[in-house]
Amino acid sequence: MNMNVEKIKKEFQSLSDDSVVYLDSASTTQKPRLVIDAVSAFYASGNANIARGSYQWASESEKKVADVRQKVAAFINAESDDVFFTSGATASQQLVATAWALENLRDGDEVLYSPDDHEAVIHPLITLQENLRRQGIGIKLVAYSLTRDGRIDMEDLQTKLTKQTRLMVITHVHNVFGYRIRLEDIRSQIPESVFISLDCAQSIGHVPVDVQELKADFISFSGHKMFAYPGIGVLWVSPRAQALMQHALIERGTLNIAGIISVGAALDFISKVGLESITEHLRSLSQYALAALKEIPDIEFLPGIAYCTEPIGYGIISFHIPGISATDAGFVLSEKGICVRTNQSCNPWSMETDAVRVSLQIYNGENDIDRLVAVLQTMVS
Ligand code: PMP
Repeated sequence: MNMNVEKIKKEFQSLSDDSVVYLDSASTTQKPRLVIDAVSAFYASGNANIARGSYQWASESEKKVADVRQKVAAFINAESDDVFFTSGATASQQLVATAWALENLRDGDEVLYSPDDHEAVIHPLITLQENLRRQGIGIKLVAYSLTRDGRIDMEDLQTKLTKQTRLMVITHVHNVFGYRIRLEDIRSQIPESVFISLDCAQSIGHVPVDVQELKADFISFSGHKMFAYPGIGVLWVSPRAQALMQHALIERGTLNIAGIISVGAALDFISKVGLESITEHLRSLSQYALAALKEIPDIEFLPGIAYCTEPIGYGIISFHIPGISATDAGFVLSEKGICVRTNQSCNPWSMETDAVRVSLQIYNGENDIDRLVAVLQTMVS
């Protein structure tokens, strides 16, 4: 199931010039023509707000939004009534904290989280704790541990789960370490009474996200990491969580209609390429990158697929080269047109911050990795 990278690249005008090797897709993806054209067409053909007019443009906008909601629902195997548009994964996480947790947590309740997760996941919990404290309600944020090869340490977790545990926040694919938590395999070991919020910002469009299989209560993601525009995201909420939720906080005001349209087009693009092909391409290219990077003397990998025995990969590898700061590496790479992430400040509690992160997409091929490694080799020699 080999991806024809050169053919795919033709769909991305920004990559038509081979001078740029874009290896920062976990930050945001490049946008395919199909997505740009869909948004342009929406504006060019007369845009209108939804639920506010009975003229044709308004009803067309309304239908487009309903269609995308349906498409998103089908993509994650959900009902469209359970899919809400937000401004992004961060906003989705904030909604979980404000519209659900703030309403439902009681004095003494506990929330499980991983301190290495993205600030988008952690900050809403800290704010939640503070907001509840002001109401005289004390909740505990309890850290659970992950192993270096990217599993939840289940022994540790069993000691952290108590009768007071109400919510557990999990990152599906980690934005620095690039491993995937297989919630479907461990859900039965976590009491059903614990609500699970799964951050799928880095997994959506990369691997299947199936709400029926995952059995989480909240699933959040952004459009811009799956070929759509920034400023649009999704929060899926299970029916049992919706029953306890403050609905007045959801989808108020004018929605980002162009963003929603970009999500619909991005899903069309993904289905054209094939999610299975994408998953396999990211896996095999991650393995290729890992093997190539291992050739660099003294390279130190952050937790992730480098420590896994299975040949897996989701397009993210982070590493440190002793004696070379990530910032220096970033500058040298940038001079050669190679774009990588060199600042992990989104994970404030991460111990290892001086890392280079390489993140891959379907428009990357082995030649991109070869160019990256060749430059890194010149830096260590
Ligand atoms: N979670 C993870 C794992 C992420 O990687 C990101 C984006 N870097 C977010 C949440 C937040 O996404 P956004 O900035 O689109 O809200």
